[in-house]
Amino acid sequence: MGQVQETSSTGLSQLSERQLYAMRERLAAGVHDPAVTLRGALHQNMRRCSSVSCRCRSGDLHGPYSYLSVYGQGRSRTLYVPRALAEIASEHVEATRRGEALMVEISKVNLELLRRRVLR
Ligand SMILES: [Zn+2]
Repeated sequence: MGQVQETSSTGLSQLSERQLYAMRERLAAGVHDPAVTLRGALHQNMRRCSSVSCRCRSGDLHGPYSYLSVYGQGRSRTLYVPRALAEIASEHVEATRRGEALMVEISKVNLELLRRRVLR
């Protein structure tokens, strides 16, 4: 039949159709609310300010300050995240990261179902 053999190590080919659908349900239940999707990478920096007499000149830097790096359209942008929003931004970014990882797994299950001609 010239069928392409899926050689992933996920072991999905060992599961029954029923198990695959159950796994798909389980994975889908863990995906984040799309409304909170926030793609990017949060990181923190210590900063030196512009005042020449400030303590930061002797190494006692200000911060940490949070930033969100966002990649898109072939470039990356960095956005300052105010302290008051750092926690909620972090939650959104983490939920998005987990959710997208789950969606990668769901796609593998659907690929297996498609291979078996039982995708619905
Ligand atoms: Zn300073």
